[in-house]
Amino acid sequence: MIYQGLYTSGQSGHAFTCEVAFNREHISITYTNAQGQNETVNWEPALLHPHYKTENHTHQFSYGNFPYQTLKISDSDLPAVLKQLYPSLPLMSNKQFSFFAWNKPFIIGLLLTVTTLVLLVWLVLLPWVARFALNHFPKEYEITMGEQMYKASIQNMQRNEAASKQMTLFLKTLIDSSEYPVQADVVHSKEVNAFALPGGHIVVYDGLLKKMHSYEELAALLGHEYSHVKLRHSTRNILRQVSVTALLYAVVGDINGLSAYVLQHAASLNNLQYSRDLEREADAGGFDLLQQKHIDAHGMLRLFETLKKENTAGVPSFLSTHPATDDRIEFINEKLAGQQHTQTHEELNKIFESIQQQVPAP
Ligand SMILES: [Zn+2]
Repeated sequence: MIYQGLYTSGQSGHAFTCEVAFNREHISITYTNAQGQNETVNWEPALLHPHYKTENHTHQFSYGNFPYQTLKISDSDLPAVLKQLYPSLPLMSNKQFSFFAWNKPFIIGLLLTVTTLVLLVWLVLLPWVARFALNHFPKEYEITMGEQMYKASIQNMQRNEAASKQMTLFLKTLIDSSEYPVQADVVHSKEVNAFALPGGHIVVYDGLLKKMHSYEELAALLGHEYSHVKLRHSTRNILRQVSVTALLYAVVGDINGLSAYVLQHAASLNNLQYSRDLEREADAGGFDLLQQKHIDAHGMLRLFETLKKENTAGVPSFLSTHPATDDRIEFINEKLAGQQHTQTHEELNKIFESIQQQVPAP
């Protein structure tokens, strides 16, 4: 096959117009030299430099030892021809390095694969790691972590000592026993709020207490908050947020390292904001607790109605950490349809009244 091209001998920069014949055995380049004589140079295909340059459909090959001879040929089919003639040569154009020279289906396929992998890691692997870490996260660390968070959150609050004592008694009477060292505090604040920390601390604002009219409502609130503790919801949130790091620790099986890391970062993580699913779990847990004690769970409904009213009045504190009240009212309504027999819990009633006496009037 004959091609027109430009040849340089490497001795001078001059480019000679030439004819090139590609054969299996050799590449023959014929040109007219400076003296006006025809000259033919034969290249051995095996000595072609494997990387050749392609620009605007012109291919530039180089050959042999320094100073290199070069050959420029403009023909878009040439690479295919060379591949066919010299299949064992690793010839590669600079264009083949270029991302944009890759074909479209390949790029789309690559992007899809990467996206799928990222989604898989995000949706499957990380939640799995968070669950794995939660199952292996020691309770002692959880308690220490909760203690640190408690100290940090209570330090700027006005704690009501007498009411807190009664509140803790109320909680312990409600739940009987716990694998966590539970403590329920009452703090002074106009806010209508309450929250639970990992490891057993619950904090109730007296602004919320003042909105309550029966011990059933308080039992519903503490049942809900305690379920967050028992079901380790905050810890789950924390581990979900550090799941990339957790993944690394889990891979090497270092639960102590993970625990230390979490302990260090717990305070800076937003872990009290619960998803709808976790809220529903806590509501169901609270409801079951009320049932076990034969406490009328209508108290839970009244509590939610109060909170909903507060929310529309523009004080959404409780709802900002325990979202989606309409859903929850509906959910509890469904559960109430199957409520077993209830009776007055005299002891809880008494403690509730004494707590109410400890908190200042609004
Ligand atoms: Zn909640």
